[in-house]
Amino acid sequence: MSGLINNRGEDVIHEIGMRCTCNNEDLFAGQMEQTHVPRRRRILGCPRCSSDGYIFRNPKKIVGLVTGITEDQSQTEMGWPAQGDCVLSTHPGYQVTAGDMITFTWSQPVPDGQVLVRGAASTSDNLERKTYLEDNEDRLWYYAADSIWCEDEDGNVYEPGAFILDGSKIIKWVGNSPRKGKRYSIKYNAYLEWIVFQPPGMRRDRNRDLGARVLLKKSHTILTAEDPRPRANDKVPFCARIQGC
Ligand SMILES: [Zn+2]
Repeated sequence: MSGLINNRGEDVIHEIGMRCTCNNEDLFAGQMEQTHVPRRRRILGCPRCSSDGYIFRNPKKIVGLVTGITEDQSQTEMGWPAQGDCVLSTHPGYQVTAGDMITFTWSQPVPDGQVLVRGAASTSDNLERKTYLEDNEDRLWYYAADSIWCEDEDGNVYEPGAFILDGSKIIKWVGNSPRKGKRYSIKYNAYLEWIVFQPPGMRRDRNRDLGARVLLKKSHTILTAEDPRPRANDKVPFCARIQGC
């Protein structure tokens, strides 16, 4: 297995994912009827995680074997993986656990694209909040390499020169742009991020550790906080973050 990963594997970025301090589960407050304190509390607008409830730390470049879910029928038998999910196998002895983040070092299209509201970070309720975005910036789900198609709700099409995608999660409007408050959709190539789900069962073979084999789900389907503010790393181009991808 180790040889297969070396021969066929690809560089991916692994980050340890865990609950942010804003996402605490208070067992003592569990009896809401008696204490009137909710057991789970989330602080919205948390500056540490931008309301995701999870933080990701210690990025490391590792080699992993990535296969699409359709190529791996043993996973679909478990019932819960969806089309577009991936399976990642890593070297024995390297620990990847549920909740971690994996980022691919190559770009590929964001399926279905993404719908944004122009200027969402500085409209309505967000006017009162510090968003760390300029008026001409919106936050994307993924580190964007380049645009495939961009069009607003009135059918106006925007060529790549009207905005800049620099490998960060920010789309910066520099030319003709959708009016503030207008919806637009963009399909783009991105360095996709994935959240690790761990299938049940250890992978051991006659007491040998075979390495982790985990299920990957696209991060935007898991981290669904509608906070338009960027996280600390979102404004840093992906390749600068990991040094030469
Ligand atoms: Zn937080």
